[in-house]
Amino acid sequence: MSSESPSTMITHNFIAGKFTDDHNKTMEVLSPLNGQVISNVVLSNRQQLDEAVKAAKNAQVSWSDFTLKERVQVFFRFRSLLEKNIDELTDMVVLENGKIDSEARAEVMKGIELCEFACSLPQLINDEIQEVSKGVECRTTHVPVGVVASITPFNFPHMVPLWTIPNAIALGNCMILKPSEQTPLSAARIGELLTEAGLPDGVLSIINGDKEIVEAICDHPDIDAVSFVGSTRVAKIVYQRATFNLKRCIALGGAKNHLIVLPDAHVEMAATNIAASMSGCAGQRCMAASAMVAVGKVDHIIEELCREVKKIKPGDNLGSVISASAKERIERYIDEAEAAGAKVLVDGRKVIIPGREGGFYVGATIIDYVTPDMNIAKEEVFGPVLAIMRTDDLDEAIRIENSSNYGNASSVFTQNGSMADYVMERVSSGMVGVNIGVPVPREPFSFGGWNESKFGVADITGKSSIHFWTKLKKRTTKWNPEAWTNWMS
Ligand code: NAD
Repeated sequence: MSSESPSTMITHNFIAGKFTDDHNKTMEVLSPLNGQVISNVVLSNRQQLDEAVKAAKNAQVSWSDFTLKERVQVFFRFRSLLEKNIDELTDMVVLENGKIDSEARAEVMKGIELCEFACSLPQLINDEIQEVSKGVECRTTHVPVGVVASITPFNFPHMVPLWTIPNAIALGNCMILKPSEQTPLSAARIGELLTEAGLPDGVLSIINGDKEIVEAICDHPDIDAVSFVGSTRVAKIVYQRATFNLKRCIALGGAKNHLIVLPDAHVEMAATNIAASMSGCAGQRCMAASAMVAVGKVDHIIEELCREVKKIKPGDNLGSVISASAKERIERYIDEAEAAGAKVLVDGRKVIIPGREGGFYVGATIIDYVTPDMNIAKEEVFGPVLAIMRTDDLDEAIRIENSSNYGNASSVFTQNGSMADYVMERVSSGMVGVNIGVPVPREPFSFGGWNESKFGVADITGKSSIHFWTKLKKRTTKWNPEAWTNWMS
């Protein structure tokens, strides 16, 4: 980065431990809080990617030579640096993403938890060893994949890079990170802090840019694996292009998360959890409740939910959405649904915050009597909007959930355990919950959806990610004279 005034400040690439002096085309980075320019991000080209990959390839030889126990020491120190700099890192997320302070702080704390998981990898990876025939041993070892890339979205500019960096790097890979061009500041700071924590130059490089550089990553012959988190439209492009080029790929896409609410649900618990899920991070998280399927007589819960949602005030306990075009898109979904006959119970359209007139705010919105054929019921809105669909039949509610192209998360609200099990068994989502608005698995459990919310095998975090970031080597050894052994070959 550089220290000029925000309108001239440039977010540079970070290659081999240093910010580079690029003279590329740049793109303005706006703070969604007020629409002001906070930086200009470099849009990199293939030559700069080549430099980063070359640095990664060189660094990988010695980095993978350290033991896992030695490599995680960097993440113990990095974890302390995250704690020490938590206020600054929180402010950075607020500035570039528009979250409220408590959400941004929680994001940084989640980053700390992700580092803790990486620090525990030496305790988790138990390579297997067994005498498979008399005098013959088989043993597995986890070997790094090599040079890997991680492409990340705008909505968690600090946390999503830390979904991949600690595990991939602790497991011996070198990484090229391509953060969202809309929120490049937190990633740049992560690069600096990792260097301060003792990460050798070249193990992590950060290349900024847009579509062009993502395509170059997918095509680069010396990148062995690509992880992607973002919209389903781009996840498909990245997954197809990276695997066409014979790379290992995991690509997480968008979401349309359903909450199935039964009449016996605990009213206050349902209302507060649903309100927090649909409005937290301004609805810009892939775990946000986006559709509620109300089964039978649940008006008392919807009334309590509306009371809760009316307490959510943009600019106070509700952050901004990322851009003017996001605000327009979200409000268009509400307009269209209303025009098609849905009923707006709480209206968050046309919000203007005094003193922040240039900010991109949408108030929390509840829209009832949505039908499954409406766009707002089928597509990812990615804003603080909850569409309520009604049915008297639980199986119909499950069919609505199952008909979604996505499959990230879903939850059921009930006090009846067997009903909860019935729903959890039948919904088509990778992450399911009971009486929880955001059923996000915490470490050491892994994160990943189904259907068009994730392409590729393994999950992106937790134990499952070990399979993605390593290759298994299977060794068979025989030291004893033939007479002592019993080997089938
Ligand atoms: P996005 O798909 O627009 O961008 C993600 C990344 O892809 C960015 O780095 C961007 O530069 C790059 N990109 C954008 N267009 C591209 C193109 N045409 N070709 C190649 N690369 C391109 O996503 P976003 O708007 O930054 O993030 C929001 C989306 O991310 C939502 O759909 C959300 O659900 C999803 N998301 C999913 C998860 C998950 O775990 N499934 C987590 C976070 C966010």
